[in-house]
Amino acid sequence: MAETLLKVENLKKYFPIKAGVFQRTVGYVKAVDDVSFELKEGETLGFVGESGCGKSTTGRTILRLLDKTDGNVYFEGKDIFSLSRKELRSIRPKMQIIFQDPYSSLNPRMTVGEIIGEALVDHKIVSKGEVKDRVLEALEMCGLAPYHIRRYPHEFSGGQRQRIGIARALVLNPKFIVCDEPVSALDVSIQSQIVNLLCDLQQKFGFSYMFISHDLSVVKHISHRVGVMYLGSLVELAEKHELYKNPLHPYTKALLSAVPIPDPTLKRERIILQGDIPSPANPPSGCKFHTRCPYKKDICSQEVPKFRDVGGGHFVSCHLV
Ligand code: SF4
Repeated sequence: MAETLLKVENLKKYFPIKAGVFQRTVGYVKAVDDVSFELKEGETLGFVGESGCGKSTTGRTILRLLDKTDGNVYFEGKDIFSLSRKELRSIRPKMQIIFQDPYSSLNPRMTVGEIIGEALVDHKIVSKGEVKDRVLEALEMCGLAPYHIRRYPHEFSGGQRQRIGIARALVLNPKFIVCDEPVSALDVSIQSQIVNLLCDLQQKFGFSYMFISHDLSVVKHISHRVGVMYLGSLVELAEKHELYKNPLHPYTKALLSAVPIPDPTLKRERIILQGDIPSPANPPSGCKFHTRCPYKKDICSQEVPKFRDVGGGHFVSCHLV
């Protein structure tokens, strides 16, 4: 059994809403609201949900790119938020991120060699003389050619730019990578190449991924387990085959009913959710999904359902399950 690499406990990230001449805090946007999960070594945990549900903010808060409001994050047993600047700096190379938009995340004035080698120099991971060799190695692992080292980001296609983003992360020899919608901006044919590259690299080096996407098919392909987020909270989390075959939360059922089946003889009943996703600044009471849930009961608007294991590591938060 693989070791636990990352443990997230009751993580909250609220952004203050300021108003008036004195910019007083008049409320909070609850972007991440009580999220808990664990990630094993070599595992991919997919995160799905509508835009604005808090997937990316969760990933960035775990990496301490954002300060937390409450909760704990343990990486290799160390509490990330209690580390000093120096300690955090030494752990940074092990925790990397791949961004959604490979173009805006690459400095257009730097060559690919400088972009990939920058963190190696910054963290003094190798001597200056070895940087080029490490960069060339990373380029090759990501399917890029040695001569690309002298090129600039604008000379590459979207897929190649994402490969540069991946090379920049893996050159530091990380253990955990947050993949923040890494294929959403790419053509479908290129998406599969990037997803396969991530899978190959995981097999070779044993990386753990938190893979964020709104595309359930992509998440199913790459993940071992999948978590579904709604309005800042995890509503369901299970092994991927279990979740796709036996979704328990009404929101997961609705999301899955919208995924096309590649067989014209099979039909799936589409569940259309009524209403818009509520504002995370003013989430509904009780179960946050009750304003859109076709199965809601009186208790749903009064009590927050517990996120609990209903058997075999299948977690769900719903009063009716
Ligand atoms: Fe629907 Fe109630 Fe379950 Fe929430 S707790 S998902 S409102 S049935």
